[in-house]
Amino acid sequence: MAAVKKAGPRTGLKLGPEYKRAGHVLLHAPSPHKLFGRVPIRHVVLMQMRFDGRLGFPGGFIDPKDGSLEEGLNRELTEELGPGATAAYVTENDYISSWVMENPQKIEGHFYAKQMSLEDLEHLEEGALHAKDHGLEVMGLVRVPLYTLRDGIGGLPAFLCNNFIGKAKEQLLEALGCLGLMPQNKLEEAVWASQK
Ligand code: AMP
Ligand code: MN
Repeated sequence: MAAVKKAGPRTGLKLGPEYKRAGHVLLHAPSPHKLFGRVPIRHVVLMQMRFDGRLGFPGGFIDPKDGSLEEGLNRELTEELGPGATAAYVTENDYISSWVMENPQKIEGHFYAKQMSLEDLEHLEEGALHAKDHGLEVMGLVRVPLYTLRDGIGGLPAFLCNNFIGKAKEQLLEALGCLGLMPQNKLEEAVWASQK
């Protein structure tokens, strides 16, 4: 699977009718809280446990009936996250990067990141249990730990050892870096610790 990296507003990669289109989004909010009173949470970053037992981002296939990529993704967000999803709706300006899959099916995927207020994000989490897809395509939302504990593996390194769908792990790391959600050296240390 090839990653197509871009920065700035989406310019509309569209490979052709034989490619199904997909869109997914990383939702995040700044957090003032500290774990055990000393470990900064920094940001709440949301992923989800999927129906297939892998971690991924909210989103899914865009329907040809959807007016645009973003409209399709926002429709998916309401299905997967419920009523609080309106505060998570993306625009072209939230676009991060794209990927292409050739086998077993042709898919072009588009990845977005959207900052929310902590209040809106927590409201979304509360409502997610009432989403249409809850317990079906979505087994639950999870927060990504953005710290490494004193043992050197607990936190983000251990989280990165999970099983991720497609390019989701690379997308998570890309977004944490380019959005500045944690210090670059701590991010690199966590990736390194997760590979040991
Ligand atoms: P979904 O409906 O959310 O499962 O996503 C539509 C398609 O995109 C499925 O074929 C997934 O396997 C694939 N997919 C989902 N998330 C990612 C991702 N982060 N990177 C690459 N492929 C993905
Ligand atoms: Mn989905």
